[in-house]
Amino acid sequence: MAQEIEFAFSVPGGLHARPASLLRSAVSRFGSAAMFVNRRSGRTANARSTLALVSTLTRHGDPCALLLDGADEVAAAEAMRGFLRDDLPLSGESLPAAPRPLQTSTALPRALSAAAVPVLRGTRASGGIARGRVVIGEGLAPLADGHVERAGDAAEEIARLDRAFATTIAALQVRSAGAANETERAILGAHLSILEDPELRSRIEDEVRSNGVSAPQAVRATIGHFVGILRASGSDSLEERALDLRDLAGQLVRAVSGDSSEASTDLTGAAVLVAEDLAPSGFLSLDRQHLRGIALGGGGRTSHTVILSRAAGIPCVTGLGEAAAAIPSESETIVDGERGLVVVNPPPAVLRFYEAEMEKLATIRSRLETFRTAPGRTADGRPVEVGANVASLEDVRLAFASGAEGIGLFRTEFLFMSRQEPPSEDEQLHVYSEAARMAGGRPVIVRTLDAGGDKPIPYLGIPREKNPFLGYRAVRMYGEHREIVATQLRAILRASAFGKLKVMVPMVATVEEMRGVRALVRQLSEELAAEGVLFDPGLEIGMMVEIPSAAFLLGALSKEADFFSIGSNDLAQYFFAADRDNERVSRLYSPLHPAFLRLLKQIVDEAHLAGGWIGLCGEMGRDPLRAPLLAGLGLDEISLAAPRIPAVKSALARAGSGECRALLDEALAKKSAPEVEALVRAFSESKRDRAIVADGTVRLRATSRSREEAIRELVNLLHASGRITDADRFEEAVWRREEAASTAIGLGVAIPHAKSAEVRVTSIALLRFEPPFPWVPGDEETVRMAILIAVAEDAPEDAHLRLIASLSRRLMDDGYRETLLSAADEEGVVRLIRDAAS
Ligand code: PEP
Ligand code: MG
Repeated sequence: MAQEIEFAFSVPGGLHARPASLLRSAVSRFGSAAMFVNRRSGRTANARSTLALVSTLTRHGDPCALLLDGADEVAAAEAMRGFLRDDLPLSGESLPAAPRPLQTSTALPRALSAAAVPVLRGTRASGGIARGRVVIGEGLAPLADGHVERAGDAAEEIARLDRAFATTIAALQVRSAGAANETERAILGAHLSILEDPELRSRIEDEVRSNGVSAPQAVRATIGHFVGILRASGSDSLEERALDLRDLAGQLVRAVSGDSSEASTDLTGAAVLVAEDLAPSGFLSLDRQHLRGIALGGGGRTSHTVILSRAAGIPCVTGLGEAAAAIPSESETIVDGERGLVVVNPPPAVLRFYEAEMEKLATIRSRLETFRTAPGRTADGRPVEVGANVASLEDVRLAFASGAEGIGLFRTEFLFMSRQEPPSEDEQLHVYSEAARMAGGRPVIVRTLDAGGDKPIPYLGIPREKNPFLGYRAVRMYGEHREIVATQLRAILRASAFGKLKVMVPMVATVEEMRGVRALVRQLSEELAAEGVLFDPGLEIGMMVEIPSAAFLLGALSKEADFFSIGSNDLAQYFFAADRDNERVSRLYSPLHPAFLRLLKQIVDEAHLAGGWIGLCGEMGRDPLRAPLLAGLGLDEISLAAPRIPAVKSALARAGSGECRALLDEALAKKSAPEVEALVRAFSESKRDRAIVADGTVRLRATSRSREEAIRELVNLLHASGRITDADRFEEAVWRREEAASTAIGLGVAIPHAKSAEVRVTSIALLRFEPPFPWVPGDEETVRMAILIAVAEDAPEDAHLRLIASLSRRLMDDGYRETLLSAADEEGVVRLIRDAAS
């Protein structure tokens, strides 16, 4: 009887080429026929065809079904359930997220609204600011260009198609092998999957046979058919996928015509590419050394071209419409990917504005950079190693680029999934030794196979179980699958000659399980030694603490395990008896619950009592807000997904270890998870730099030469130091006050001010001007100094009035004012202002 899986479609961008190609390769491992049904649109598709899947116009959340029919349908259904639950939702995760849609008012910053040049408005597709000379790109050839080529006989045209597909696929494979990052590889993989789709091929060939058209025309007509379906979908993200199909049509048509050149635009110097649209392959063929920014007439925020530019850090504005066509070649142009603007031939004032903006973005980046490279430690210097969880070599690269101090968890099961047989010893040796090499002496904890439960591996032939999470999984299967485990351990042992590898055993519940693995490692080590193979004889063997029984056995286990790492994902589900993936019981699954924190505390204390090292590698380590609580437990390490590493280090650096312990004690005394959550949040808020003024908010040699520039420079100081959330909005608030009456108060001083929702912490910024200039054009008196007061919205009603009053009073004092104007460094100014504001 056929198997049927009902599910809600889980990928936020809908069923486009990337998830479709993943789904296709997942079902293709089985012999059963696989039919995908979208219950909302009523469309069905052969799940082995990427294009047919894309044509179902499936959106995020659509009710869907997968029907499997054939000899291996039961195993296929089992595997596909896991795939739909665990892998498919991640199919967009490795790609850089789109910038938030612009929430600021559509008002332009003053420097731009005052400029005498048009500012083109588009969509911000990739952040950052670029400056360069315009190079006009070609754009994509239309699918229906009216050009009709005389067709040869069908066999001849089909032979041309064969050659064209072969060359295009080979070219994509070469490009994919040399991809600069995981995003490029994923997108090229999706393109390959479309070209390898048998449905596409047979439709094109049918077109040749039935309508007697030439090969290029058959390609255009067939791809045009699919493009039409996507365009009619009513979903922006699916419509944007039409670009991939047009891109592939262009590549195929060129290949059919024997044109081996790439449609590429030559760039020299700092260049801004302007075009109506740009295909992903067009982007990849551009010389990245010269490409500074991209401005497109068409396009949206989710096309693959946009995703590629984000991954490469190239600012990009799309949706400029016809205005793009009017941008002259060679003109000096700014692409403002932060606001979705393009400025052609910017006058000097606009250039100065953007230079300051670029400097500010660099300051913000370098602030995070400090934490990226710093070791994880609390404010008083207690080390808490911050490691990364990885599942591939690409993840390892990203982990170290993000500041990981080691790999706290290498989930190796992904090397075993999506294939017909286990990876060979040499294949694994390559991965583990490469990871060790990339780590350059930092520790890499390789977890041995954690199959079963939520991680199905069909060729292990795990029988269907009623309760797989409580069933035959991970270390429990090692006896039966000794060969597979021994091969993996041999590969890890051999790779240990290349760096500091450690082994970690998953799902350990008893001392005997650890003894079994240790004995196997001992035996393999002896064999390797006899073979004369190099390995680290001191290789540490540790274990995950993710089963409650282990938590109460740490004294005994520490005789067998060289280290521990808490797997809070599984530990929480077994502790609360609440499936970690079941939405209906997610209320109960709460790692911040005081009961769970008590369990964690007991585990860490026991491990330390036995003289052991203990980290945590579950998801609860991901949230920077929780880092002080975890440090309070006394953990030696926290391991998490790479992108959050700098933020977790920054949260640790703001909290003293004593405070962290006190925070934990307070949390342990609470009665519910929401109470602990509130406590942790309040702690993080209290750690913000609340001092009213700091070195970073004072500049003694300001570059501004007008009130407009000075207000922006002051606002930028607050923005760069993280005290306001949105510079443009806050600048507007300052101007609303300024326009009511000039804030130049005499004595060479101006005190602009505003109270607004963008202010995180009530703050003061200060600039000194040399030479002084009139605050308002025509004023007789000039200003030598401007002091901006930014007041948080939740501050008391009259806070800013009191601040202005006390500052003004001190400024009336000639001695105070002169000391302020002549102070030699920012520190001196900070002291004087703090004194006046208190
Ligand atoms: C865990 O259980 O916390 C863990 C890290 O392992 P996984 O999520 O791979 O089961
Ligand atoms: Mg686990």
